[in-house]
Formats: sequence, structure tokens, C-alpha cells
Amino acid sequence: MLIEGKTGPWEIVIGLEVHAQVISKAKLFSGAATDFGAEPNTQVSPVDAAFPGMLPVINRFCVEQAVRTGLGLEAQINLVSVFDRKNYFYADLPAGYQISQYQRPIVGKGKITLDLPGGETREVGITRLHLEQDAGKSLHDQHPTKTYVDLNRAGVALMEIVSEPDMRSPEEAGAYLKKLRSILRYLGTCDGNMEEGSMRCDCNVSVRRPGEPYGTRCEIKNVNSVRFVMQAIEYEARRQIEVLEDGGTIRQETRLFDSGRGVTRPMRTKEHAHDYRYFPDPDLLPLVLDPAWVEEIRNSLPELPDAKKARFMREYKLSAYDAGVLAAERESADYYERVAKGRDPKQAANFVMGDLFGALNRLGVGIDRSPVSAENLGRLIDLVADGTISGRLAKDVFAAMVETGQDPATIVEERGLRQVTDTAAIEQAIDAVMAREAAKVAEYRGGKEKLFGYFVGQVMKATQGKANPAVVNDLLRKKLAG
Ligand code: ADP
Ligand code: MG
Repeated sequence: MLIEGKTGPWEIVIGLEVHAQVISKAKLFSGAATDFGAEPNTQVSPVDAAFPGMLPVINRFCVEQAVRTGLGLEAQINLVSVFDRKNYFYADLPAGYQISQYQRPIVGKGKITLDLPGGETREVGITRLHLEQDAGKSLHDQHPTKTYVDLNRAGVALMEIVSEPDMRSPEEAGAYLKKLRSILRYLGTCDGNMEEGSMRCDCNVSVRRPGEPYGTRCEIKNVNSVRFVMQAIEYEARRQIEVLEDGGTIRQETRLFDSGRGVTRPMRTKEHAHDYRYFPDPDLLPLVLDPAWVEEIRNSLPELPDAKKARFMREYKLSAYDAGVLAAERESADYYERVAKGRDPKQAANFVMGDLFGALNRLGVGIDRSPVSAENLGRLIDLVADGTISGRLAKDVFAAMVETGQDPATIVEERGLRQVTDTAAIEQAIDAVMAREAAKVAEYRGGKEKLFGYFVGQVMKATQGKANPAVVNDLLRKKLAG
């Protein structure tokens, strides 16, 4: 995407750093619990509080989750990786350093395929994924003059996932985050919940003239929703263009996004790696993985969104767009497959993506709490297929299913919605309509053939939508012919 400035077009260049909290009952180097929303400082071991003499012990399960994620990103798994100390002082970092990985991360280069509007795709490179500890939290709103510290989050395992500067628009950045979240959820390695902070995003943004080398970037820290990421990038790119067009230069710096005002503002000048005095943590040996174990994890991976999307296109003949939407979440993909099994897959997709997703949106619930089960939605499609109800009435039956949670057959019987295919009853309705609309019948017979649709509508109305449309068309044509 190019942005038109006062002096010509500019291109946006974006690279994202995502901190994804590992799903694990215990922390990265201690046995303390990780439950969200617990009372402050109730999930802190002496290791997390950095008591003197305490030693970190690596949590094998967290390592497995990082490897699983790396494999899901089609990335290089490094059989030897090293934990380093990243030194800085902050009240919520009791040790005075964070254990992280610097030069030798556990996961190297990989890739993610973005699903763009219109079914297009685009590949974005993953630079690396490394394991590190989260910091605690400073609480500024508990006391008028004091800041409190909650160490529950201190030591929780994070995966930092760094992308190449391969994205070129806010939309691509949004698509990247959605796809990454989808993959993490399929893998079960991070819940992707941005509101609770279990996925946080730093956005690196620069602008350049098309074809020129990369410009100087600014990094917007800790943006916590897909929408805010897109807004922050858009604002930041326009700000940089304005500075450059006015003859200024961009200083590499760290900025914050103010979501209330929709602007980014400076936080600090860019810190450099040497500021952190990285060195290998002497309390931890290099992490060495057994290749057989990595293969075991590879073989246990579920079918991931891209593979599922491709299979949906192949097996169910869905468009790239429909297949992408249905495969985005494991739950909706499973639901769809239960509906589609043995039925018209396109019709199943229309019902799931149209009526069902619409209803879930209105109710504000996820598919796991859908008032309509996949089995009942399947039965509804069967009732249309075998002519028990018309396609039009199926919409009403579906609405009643959402409301009552009942199965469609019960609703059809109780409300008398069964389709009328009885020709005598339909003939009667046609006769009544023709008698009432004598003038229009004359016009039709005089050559105004487009009135046919009007008659169909009237007959359907007279039968409360229950008449079989094919029978109505047939009989009406004969009768109008005279
Ligand atoms: P640091 O660790 O200092 O943040 P990195 O080299 O690890 O620096 O890069 C961090 C992120 O910045 C990566 O996601 C990368 O893709 C992105 N990036 C690097 N150069 C640019 C640039 N010129 N414009 C936009 N993003 C960039
Ligand atoms: Mg950075």
C-alpha cells in the first residue's frame, strides 16, 4: 500500500515483535502457578522474587510449547540454545535482570502465510522465536502516593516472536496478528487473549520512497488489540511522512500508543543491545534438545489452519475466502465439518458463515456456546433438501432455533411450517389471487410478462411462504396462460 504525501508516494515498512504467554500451569524457571487474576503476590516462589541463592530450573513443558510453536511456524528448531541475562533496573524486576535468549534463540527462521481480503495470500518471514521471563506488574492505582508491586506475573514464560520487516500496510499487520493467534490457538501454546495481555505486540514502523532502502524505524510498545495495532501503524506512518516532507529526520525511538486519542507519543530514545549488558546466565546450562524428542513433537502437531484451509477448498470446493474464514478457529472448523458431512458443503458454509455467525455476533458468544448445535443445523439443511420446508422458511426456523435451542423438526411441526406440495391447496390459492387481481391478470395476458414474479409473491404470501416454489411456478404458468 502506498500513501500519497505532498511530495509523492511513500511505502510503509512494518516488522512486529509479539510477546505470547505460554500456556503452562507453572512458570518458566519455578513451580509457582500462573492463573490470571489471582490475588496479588500469591503466586510467587523465592526464585521469582529473586531471593539470594535461589536457582532457576527450566520447565520442560514450556520448552516443549516453544518447540511446538516453532514447528507450527515452519521454523528452524535450534538443538542448542542459550539463556542470557538482560540487565536493567525496574521496580517490578526483582533480580535486576530478565532471563532471556539473545544470540542463540531456541527457534530460528520460519514463515507465516497471511490471508488477505479477496482470498489473496502473502508470506511474511519469521526471524526468530525465543523464550524469556515476564516481569511483575507495578500497580499505580492502589494508593495516592505509593506504587505497589505484584509479582504474580514475574517469571511467567513468554515466547517472543519476531517478524521480518515484510509487511507493507496496517491491514497486513492485522492479518499477521490474526493468523499468528490462530496458529497459536490451534497448537494450544498460547490463548492469544490480547485483552488479558497474554499476547502483546510491539510495532516497528518506518517509511520510504518505493524502491529505496529501509528508513529509520520507530517502535510502538505493547499495543493490546488488533484494531489498535492497525490504528497505531497508520498514525505513525503518517506522522513520519509529515516529518520527512517538512525536511526533518526520524530519530529511532520507542513510542507509546494512546488509544483514547489515537496518537503515538515518544517514550524514550531507542535502547541498544549493548545497554543491556547481555551475558550467558551462569545459573543455566545451554539448553540441548534431543532430535528424537523434536520429531515426536512434530508428529503430534494437529492439522494447522493453512492445511485445513487447503483441504476445505479441495474436499468441499469452498472459495479461498470461505475456507479461510471457517478454518481460522479450530472450533468453527470442527463445527462446519460436522454440518457439512454428507450434505451440500456450499450450503452448509452459507448457513454457518451467514446465519450462524450472524446470530453468534448478535448474542456476543463464541461458537462453543452456540444455542444451535451442529447436529441441529445439519437437520435443518436436511429438511430443506427433502422438501419438508422451503429455503425461505428455513431462515425463520433457524431464528426460532436460536431463540429456543429446539431441534428444527419440532419447530416445523409445532408451528405448522411444513411445505405445501399438495397441488389442490396451491391451486386454490392461485385461483384466489387471480380472482382478486383480475386487472393485473389481463395486463399479463396482454404481454406484460414481468408481472409473473408479482403473482408468485402473492401466492407465496397467501400460503404463508409454505407453498413449494417449484409447484407454484409450474401451476401459475399454466393457469395464467389461460
Ligand atoms: P531490536 O531488538 O532492537 O528491537 P531487531 O533487529 O530485533 O531490533 O528488530 C526488531 C523488529 O524491527 C523486527 O520485527 C524487524 O522486522 C523490525 N525492523 C527492522 N528494521 C525495520 C525497518 N527499517 N522498518 C520497520 N521495521 C523494521
Ligand atoms: Mg525490539
